Amino acid sequence: MTVHEQSNPFLIVQQQLKEATEKMNLPASVYEVLKYPKRVLTVSIPVKMDDGSMKTFIGYRSQHTDVLGPTKGGIRFHPDVTMDEVKALSMWMTFKCGVVSLPYGGGKGGIICNPKELSKGELERLSRGFAQSISAFIGPDKDIPAPDVYTNAQVMAWMMDEYNKTQGGINNPGVITGKPITLGGSLGRDTATAQGCIYTIREAANKMGIQLDKATAVIQGFGNAGSHAARLLADLGVTIIAVSDSRGAIFNKQGFNVQELMDYKKSNSSVLGFNGSEEITADKILTMACDILVPAALENQITSKNAPDVKAKIVAEAANGPTTPEADKILTQNGVVVIPDILANAGGVVVSYYEWVQNLMGYYWSAQEVAEKLEAQMVTAFDKTWNTREKYGDVDLRTAAYMVSLERITEALRLRGWI
Ligand code: GLU
Repeated sequence: MTVHEQSNPFLIVQQQLKEATEKMNLPASVYEVLKYPKRVLTVSIPVKMDDGSMKTFIGYRSQHTDVLGPTKGGIRFHPDVTMDEVKALSMWMTFKCGVVSLPYGGGKGGIICNPKELSKGELERLSRGFAQSISAFIGPDKDIPAPDVYTNAQVMAWMMDEYNKTQGGINNPGVITGKPITLGGSLGRDTATAQGCIYTIREAANKMGIQLDKATAVIQGFGNAGSHAARLLADLGVTIIAVSDSRGAIFNKQGFNVQELMDYKKSNSSVLGFNGSEEITADKILTMACDILVPAALENQITSKNAPDVKAKIVAEAANGPTTPEADKILTQNGVVVIPDILANAGGVVVSYYEWVQNLMGYYWSAQEVAEKLEAQMVTAFDKTWNTREKYGDVDLRTAAYMVSLERITEALRLRGWI
């Protein structure tokens, strides 16, 4: 692969899938039907800007496979969104839902935009415009969006509201998850990605004999997943020695008070300048000496260039696709345990599933009920993946997670007569 191809997430997910199907000796037809998304929609969304001008944004929605149920996955707002990225992310969602045994296939959406440069009104019009233009393709039993990078509960509320209008004024909250609690959201959804990730770290640390109250962690990205992961790790006694966001990185050998750092970021919109911190260069953060590294930002962060210098014992991928296949091989050779994205960050979609179930029932669970269910589901998925790795011996946890997922998907493909 060329350097350009090495960082194309769509080619990466195809490569990961191919490797897993070959290791499992699955018939070639499995790779053949899963190597492309079933449907990819491109939309243009003209938005009236606050200054009276019109601006047209481009958005995508990719639906990978509905063999296990409706497609499911977030919508991101980011200037670097591409169709290939959205396609890849929808495929990762399929395998993610497979590992944690959800009755879903994968979907993903994205709009090329910089939400930090949009006013609240512009953001609302963009969100509604996107929901309107994909409304014929989504629905509670078709494709169910959710939050992702730079989208949140408010964006989900606008999209749900708009979708319901396009359906003749129905009131169906189950079309989208990650909604505000008042509009049918689930308790625990906002922290679910981080919480799920922490369960997988705890289980891995247990297996590896790492004592969390003596461990150090570095968090790349301080958004929804990264900031809550830092806080929850700190609650388990882990010392958080470095964090970064899109503006830069900070370090404190004694460890941060994460709650104070979260409050600081809220009022200053960056972690930079936090009391008692030393500023470091952002690319240093991934190779710092620590026990646990949590990439919680974007794709292609750990590459063949910096992977040889990664010193963490555990890399827990709270982000989707942060490690390239070349880097994966280097980390494995060096004995680093990588808890792959499709397992490590599955907590978000697990609680999205609970939200959808609650919407369909019209009956809502307590925070404790959600938390207990999430823990059980994540621990089961972790154990299955760990045991699969032990069974095959020569595979890493990523391939093992694909295998767990592919067992269910292949059976469903066979039962439906698609292969
Ligand atoms: N965007 C999240 C992910 O990548 C959540 C998806 C969902 O809840 O449907 O897993």
